This record gives sequence, structure tokens and C-alpha cells, in this order.
Amino acid sequence: MVRLRDVSKEYGEVAALRGVSMSIEYGELVGIVGPSGSGKSTMLNMIGTLDRPSSGTVSIAGHDVLTLTDKQLSALRANVIGFVFQQFHLAAGVPALDNVADGLLYAGPSLRERRLRAYEALDRVGLGHRLGHRPHELSGGERQRVAIARAVVGGPRLLLADEPTGNLDSRSGAGVMDLLRELHAGGTTVVVITHDRDIAASLPRQVEMLDGLVAEGVRA
Ligand code: ADP
Repeated sequence: MVRLRDVSKEYGEVAALRGVSMSIEYGELVGIVGPSGSGKSTMLNMIGTLDRPSSGTVSIAGHDVLTLTDKQLSALRANVIGFVFQQFHLAAGVPALDNVADGLLYAGPSLRERRLRAYEALDRVGLGHRLGHRPHELSGGERQRVAIARAVVGGPRLLLADEPTGNLDSRSGAGVMDLLRELHAGGTTVVVITHDRDIAASLPRQVEMLDGLVAEGVRA
């Protein structure tokens, strides 16, 4: 699903990644862990094709990111990858159903079809009864569930979550992690960035980052 070979990323003088090689197989559930500044977000930007490496190669679902045009990259992101962020990134004042339906804008089905699929996605995350609620009318945990529904409404094979529990109390956070595990059990490859050691320890594989390098740790 993901192959990074000798990937480096520099921001001016700062080396955020320093020659990282790492693969993630189809169907894995992986945590990317490490202290602040270790390069986790940069790694996620590489895997999510949101940014290009300074050197090295990134291959996602068999596509070499360097050879793709911006348009092809957008299509790859829209069709293959779902994103979940710490800050939810929902549109304010917009009902949950339409926040999720907008996740299909790129794919281009009719509004009716988008809403139907949005309903199904919300139902899957346990929010079939909150379709008309706007983000400010939802709890933090519910907002993150809406964001996850939006991320998966297009059926991505790869789900990338950047500190998805970072703004949640531990109970809501546990619910969100359960949901990510369910999606993984359903066949989605899931990558979770977290600095929460307990969450990381609960995942089958951890990729540890330190100073822009990977120190892999696999749970016994
Ligand atoms: P983490 O997610 O583990 O906190 P990051 O990948 O955000 O780490 O950052 C790794 C390093 O790269 C840090 O030193 C950070 O300051 C630097 N960095 C990240 N993004 C940028 C940027 N857009 N411009 C300049 N420096 C950056």
C-alpha cells in the first residue's frame, strides 16, 4: 500500500525526514509514534501525497508519486486515501449529512446519491440519528465520527489519521479508536499518528520516529 525509499524532506535548513525507508502492507493497522518534531506529520504528508519528498521515492498503491501530475495526485488522493485530523475540519454551520456528502464532491455522483451514501457512512459510525446536527451541536467525539464518515464515504483503501484523539476525552478517544479498528477489520489500511503511548501500544505495529528517522518497533 505504501512504500517509502530513502525519503528525505528539508524545509530550508531543517531536515524533517533524513532518509526514511518504510513499507506498509495492504490491510495493516499501523501507529506512527514519536516526540513532537520527530517528523510524524511530515511522514503523513508524504504518505498522503500532500507534499513531495526532497529526495527518495514514495509509492502509494503502486503509483510512484514523483511521476504523477498534480491532477493525477488529486485523483489518487480522492479515490484511494481518506484523511482524519485532530481538529476535525468540518464545515461550520453545515449539517452532518452534507459535511459527509461533500466528501464525494470530487467523485461527482448526483446530490441525491451523495446524500444517500453520506447517510450510510454516518449510520456506520453510529450517527444515523444525527444527520441534521451541525458541528456546534455535536460533542467532540461525535464531530470526529462525522469527520471519519466523511473520510471513508468514498471507500478509500488507505485511511490516514493525524492525532485523531488529540482533542477528545479518553472515553470519546477510545470510541474513535474502536471505530478505526472496525474499519481496519473491514479491510481498510489504517495509519494513525499518535503521541499517546497507550494508544500506540494497543496497535499491532508501531513505526517509531526520532529526529527524522524511523526506529521500528513491533509489539511482541
Ligand atoms: P511532528 O509531527 O513529529 O511533530 P513534524 O513533521 O511536524 O514533526 O516536524 C519535523 C521537523 O520539521 C520539525 O523540526 C519542524 O519544525 C520542521 N517542519 C515541519 N514542517 C515545516 C515547515 N512547513 N516549514 C519549516 N519547518 C517545518
